[in-house]
Amino acid sequence: MFLSDELSLEVSADMRHELNKIVIDFADDFINTLEDRKAYMKGTGPSDSSAWRNINEAPENIQNLLEDLNNHMLETGLNPASGGNMGYVPGGGIYCSALGDYLAAATNPYAGNIYASPATVEIEGSLINWTGKLIGYKPGFGGNITSGGSMANLIAIATARNQKRINSTNVRRSVIYYSSLTHHSINKAIKFLGLEECVLRNIEVDKNFKFSVTALETQTRADIEKGLIPFMVVANAGATDTGTIDPLKVIHDICIKFNMWLHIDAAYGGFFMLTDVGKDKLEGLSNADSVVLDPHKSLLLPHDSCIVLVKKVEHLIEANGNSANYLQNSLTPDKYSPANFSPEMSKHYRGLSMWFPLKLYGTAVFSEYLREKIQLAYYLYEELKLIGYHVLCEPDLSVVIFRYETKNDKGSDIINQSILNYILEDGRVFISSTILQGKFTLRAAVLSFRTHKKEVDILISLLQRMMNFLEGSHK
Ligand SMILES: *Cc1c(COP(=O)(O)O)cnc(C)c1O
Repeated sequence: MFLSDELSLEVSADMRHELNKIVIDFADDFINTLEDRKAYMKGTGPSDSSAWRNINEAPENIQNLLEDLNNHMLETGLNPASGGNMGYVPGGGIYCSALGDYLAAATNPYAGNIYASPATVEIEGSLINWTGKLIGYKPGFGGNITSGGSMANLIAIATARNQKRINSTNVRRSVIYYSSLTHHSINKAIKFLGLEECVLRNIEVDKNFKFSVTALETQTRADIEKGLIPFMVVANAGATDTGTIDPLKVIHDICIKFNMWLHIDAAYGGFFMLTDVGKDKLEGLSNADSVVLDPHKSLLLPHDSCIVLVKKVEHLIEANGNSANYLQNSLTPDKYSPANFSPEMSKHYRGLSMWFPLKLYGTAVFSEYLREKIQLAYYLYEELKLIGYHVLCEPDLSVVIFRYETKNDKGSDIINQSILNYILEDGRVFISSTILQGKFTLRAAVLSFRTHKKEVDILISLLQRMMNFLEGSHK
């Protein structure tokens, strides 16, 4: 007898049944009451004195734990499960993903290589294949399921660096071009990968918030004349701030002309390829050497799901593959195993949270939801114009950027901040803000699968009320 009888981590079948019911009931109750829950609830940050989250030697009662989670986790801050969530880029959270996730956690496969789990690697492969085909890649590409766009961008840029042979002999002469709307995870990746020493060209965007291709070409030529080596362009297919899609085909032509790697960050916009509008607007995505798409954004899945695709699978392996003595038995045909496509080795098996809902629902319903989001964003755009807000550009996909404008810019910044505060104070819907053209700008991203006309109408009515108040007070 090595183990005390009193303590056990194994749970009897009856007990499991009971625990499952308690947890599922809790989640059900949360989902059933979402309509009455706010999208944003002001809360205080963690305090040292809150005993509920301390870890103790003694076991605790599950009902108490759930009550604590209800009071703290579900009652403060942003509620990403709410249809009212239109801030940043909303994560989805369709229910059947949670079931897939549960199965992954309960069965706990190791999906890093074929030797350990051929079927899970196959499932991951089929998801990568489906996504690659969706963006128009021809066979020969490879990919990986990562935690999010940040990790995926890191993998893509590491692959570009490796392929273009950027090293200590040329790093200071190599040039990376991106736009002022590039997501900050690209800057993070550049920093992590030691590419900060490259020449970094932050290219302006035009009046429609798209990469200025004229500026890009002029700058590239000037750089070559200076003896620099153009190395990579990062384009946006749905910039986070504005939702706008860069002119992908022209940027690709420039990349070909100057022998540069084209990375397209489609973390937000990529899965709009499932719609006719998206297919049209995202034309040229398949030209990229690497692409990133977040299923936890435009495939409406819960957080922790992103796909990085590289046009030539061997490039991905060359940059990320590695081995070790202790892996000798698992090496056989394992070049094509997920652990060779990523810096990550052991990880939660993310494939099921995507495979499960795609198989259960089929893909048509996702297309339909995404089409609705584009329509809702356009509806919001038109309504805001009618109310009198300055809408900065027509939405490409589902992000609307707007502000209240007065003659005095500083004054407008303060007013727009108070409009945001008013919406957060109400809490039924949540939007966020950014700075565009040097000014405080409000933005609404319609993407949560639970956001429908009702939620958008709540936002419109709050903005209308604020406008009435402002116009009244200005008279
Ligand atoms: C959200 C986003 C990212 C980062 O993705 P995470 O999943 O949050 O890590 C990168 N690029 C763009 C364009 C994004 O919208």
